[in-house]
Amino acid sequence: MSIAQNLTQILSDINLAIERVKVPRIGDEVKLVAVTKNHDVHAMREAIDNGVYAIGENRVQEVLEKCVILDRKVEWHLIGHLQTNKVKQIVPTADLIQSVDSERIALEINRIAEKLGKRQDVLIQVNVSGEESKFGINPKFVIDFAKQVSNLNNIRLCGLMTIAPNHEDIELTRPVFRELYSLFTELRSVNINNTNIEWLSMGMTNDFTIAIEEGSNLVRVGTGIFGARQY
Ligand SMILES: *Cc1c(COP(=O)(O)O)cnc(C)c1O
Repeated sequence: MSIAQNLTQILSDINLAIERVKVPRIGDEVKLVAVTKNHDVHAMREAIDNGVYAIGENRVQEVLEKCVILDRKVEWHLIGHLQTNKVKQIVPTADLIQSVDSERIALEINRIAEKLGKRQDVLIQVNVSGEESKFGINPKFVIDFAKQVSNLNNIRLCGLMTIAPNHEDIELTRPVFRELYSLFTELRSVNINNTNIEWLSMGMTNDFTIAIEEGSNLVRVGTGIFGARQY
């Protein structure tokens, strides 16, 4: 199947999932972020020319290389763990950094954004499942961490992100999504100054339909659009 055909399928699956949403929805769309890591700019152009407007990458280097050759206007989302020494390279380009997972990284983003006269939109990555291999803030500390982040003037906290464990049976991911949705609504109700809590980023190729049913309004899909990645 071509990228265009895959996209049609994914968008249709997203719309069908929206009809099955079980919780009060936040916002009026589900944003599709096309995850293009390890795919070249030709593939990216094809996706963009077929309606994709947001690109997700997990490595800073790959964003920098691609954004100079990609002759299309897109939103850039950083979705991978960020190292402190890479912050100054990504902040000028990133529209949304979805993977803020420590106070240290938040402080550095704020410092660089201030120099650039920018307000950097970010999400807090939450390690809902508690797997050691995953980055992210422990759910217990998310509200406090959000308050800390909200004190940084050159950051705007816009929501939460998680990566669910990889289960053969995707139903097993449902509790993870449910827990993050509940934390997201709690975070909204706390009403922290200086934030704009609107995005709940959860769901990838294997589990985005379940994530949407449980309240996700931003899904990150790679394989489903571009096929398997060659490493
Ligand atoms: C790679 C990646 C995705 C996309 O995964 P697919 O299974 O290819 O859809 C989504 N989110 C993050 C954080 C990723 O690293």
